Amino acid sequence: MEIDTDVLVIGASPAGISAAAAAASHDVDVTLIERKEEIGSMPHPANTFFEGMFDRTSEIIHHEYVIREMSGMHIVSPAGNRIVHETPGYIIDREKFDKYHVKDLIRHNVDVITGVSAHNFIRKKNIIRTSTSDQTLASKIVIIADGISSGLSALVGLHPTKYPHDIAWAIEAEVEADGVGDPDFFEYYIGSIAPGWKATYSPCGGDRANLGVFVRRHGQDVSRFFDLWLKRFAEEKNISDVSEIRIIRKQIGGDPIATIPDEIVSDGIMVAGGAAGQSGICYGMRAGEICGMVAAKAIASSKTSRKALSEYRRLWEKEFKSEYLLGRSALEILRKLDDKEIDRLTGMFTDVNLTLVTGTGSPRSQAIRVMQFMLRKEPKTALSLLAPLIRAGVG
Ligand SMILES: Cc1cc2nc3c(=O)[nH]c(=O)nc-3n(C[C@H](O)[C@H](O)[C@H](O)COP(=O)(O)OP(=O)(O)OC[C@H]3O[C@@H](n4cnc5c(N)ncnc54)[C@H](O)[C@@H]3O)c2cc1C
Repeated sequence: MEIDTDVLVIGASPAGISAAAAAASHDVDVTLIERKEEIGSMPHPANTFFEGMFDRTSEIIHHEYVIREMSGMHIVSPAGNRIVHETPGYIIDREKFDKYHVKDLIRHNVDVITGVSAHNFIRKKNIIRTSTSDQTLASKIVIIADGISSGLSALVGLHPTKYPHDIAWAIEAEVEADGVGDPDFFEYYIGSIAPGWKATYSPCGGDRANLGVFVRRHGQDVSRFFDLWLKRFAEEKNISDVSEIRIIRKQIGGDPIATIPDEIVSDGIMVAGGAAGQSGICYGMRAGEICGMVAAKAIASSKTSRKALSEYRRLWEKEFKSEYLLGRSALEILRKLDDKEIDRLTGMFTDVNLTLVTGTGSPRSQAIRVMQFMLRKEPKTALSLLAPLIRAGVG
């Protein structure tokens, strides 16, 4: 059996769902296929975001999937320096979040097919035939939103990320211990506890929390970092024995936080979300929206060439490129500093309200204000730590 559609979306990731909804809202025929039997079942571990990120999408936050509202984050250095950033955040029930968005797809008449896996593509005369575990689907455009591990983009010769070796490999666990869910700030611990990125503590209310490690360039098995993090967490929270922290569920995965989108467009094909190095729920959703909108325009004008679809890349770069490069540079600086250097850097922010330092505005202008603050406060320390790294090239 062969199914005809204008746009085929592969993967019910945040990017895939948003791309399908955006394209369908412009009156084109959209089919979304998802490998899992049910969207939202076996949910992805990603379940937090900040309001400032969500505001980048065209949606509003719905309380039916919010578990907990948070007041912001603490960034904690190896020696315990704490940087406080007040910025509204959310812990969500990812299953409810995904199911909420499936309703949106149905409202937009997207044909959603679950339990079907895409295998390969053949392109002939502007039609792409996607073979799946079930049938062949013929479409004018394919949007690949299959996450970091499926690798469908490689089948069409695309290298969608610039630094694929820089995925942060992660373990995240739902845990239970007395009162562990009470605080209303996320805590992110940096340094050798989780090289290249962070160890996380998300208090979910009551006795529940999520603990995770996200590590770059130390292989995919990061369990030794997770074990160290549990020990440090117990010490930090005065829990006398690690065994008092009961692990309910552990999930592993990769976060493409520093991989940077590269070749994300080909003839009739666009790549979005984690597969394209667009890490994060909200960033994936926004990239999906752009992708879906460009797909609809291309269908309307019957122009689906690489050149026509490159508008997706152009619009994405306009909104996000400098922010992504800045984020990667910050993570590279973090990866190259040792614990003592991180303590010296974070020491500059002791008793400082980071929210007042960053102010509002684009992430770029906020980062510039942070640099200016550091140079004013301790010019020697700031220059001695940052200048060699910047000279050596952190991008
Ligand atoms: C442990 C962990 C925690 C994280 N926490 C957060 C967080 O709190 N907040 C945040 O913003 N980000 C977080 N991230 C980052 C995360 O990577 C992204 O936010 C996002 O959820 C991942 O989306 P994705 O685009 O990679 O796709 P995924 O969510 O992985 O979705 C891809 C979908 O495609 C389907 N699929 C794959 N191959 C095929 C195929 N061949 N045919 C059909 N369907 C297919 C899969 O079944 C899957 O449903 C976390 C990452 C990890 C690893």
